[in-house]
Amino acid sequence: MKNSKKITTGIALIVLMTAHSVFANPHWTYEIDTDTAVLDGQNHWAEIIDPTSSAPIPLNYPYAECGIGQKQSPINISTPLTNQAKLNDIILNYHANPLVVENNGHTIKVNESITSPGKMYIGNSLSHDEYTLLQYHIHSPGEHTVNGLSYPMEIHFVHGTPDGKLAVIGVVVQPGAHNNELQKILDNAPTTVTTNSPENVFIDPRGLDTSHYVSYAGSLTTPPCTEGVNWYVLTTPIEASDAQVASFQSFFTDNARQTQNLNGRVANLKK
Ligand SMILES: [Zn+2]
Repeated sequence: MKNSKKITTGIALIVLMTAHSVFANPHWTYEIDTDTAVLDGQNHWAEIIDPTSSAPIPLNYPYAECGIGQKQSPINISTPLTNQAKLNDIILNYHANPLVVENNGHTIKVNESITSPGKMYIGNSLSHDEYTLLQYHIHSPGEHTVNGLSYPMEIHFVHGTPDGKLAVIGVVVQPGAHNNELQKILDNAPTTVTTNSPENVFIDPRGLDTSHYVSYAGSLTTPPCTEGVNWYVLTTPIEASDAQVASFQSFFTDNARQTQNLNGRVANLKK
């Protein structure tokens, strides 16, 4: 009996190690301490230990950057912004693709087509960087605040380059007209942690106004809070109806990280 229990434990351990062999991603939440410590909450992401790792401190803290990083996101944007810079143009070449929508336990995320993804070009007529759209996902309330106030929702369009550079376009959502594309996401989003690829549903993310934005150097807003992310928060909101905001909040409420210290960073406004 003793032996068979040992073998079972061994198999369980192998399964765990396989699942975490590439990257450890222990559980975390958006909860915020009030009276009692929430050990996996957002004030404690940096202290979460990888239970599968036997690495010594600090290597078994996979989310350490959430705490020690000096260029974290999101931030509060204080207006009027005095730094009105001559910044690069952003050109988006998005198009409709078959909808693949995932509930990852923290947000509702649209996974962009790998074979024909949208592109983002940033630069000028002489030279530009090309980024590939990877996915876009929703926070409620919005994560970037403006003079301390948050929008009901914010959508993050995450782009990358083959050499690992990340650029995120943040789009705040204000209450207003019904949003047809958002409705496709809400109608097809799984209620459990899984991915849904409905037949004959196409999602079209075109129509963002990238002519004016606030740019700063930041990070991913979820663990592992990796820095080196170029942020472009568009100053023109998109709209969604109150019912659509409520519909998203039936999946996730308060999936927003609190704003982080600027630590000397400057946010620039492209006029
Ligand atoms: Zn996000």
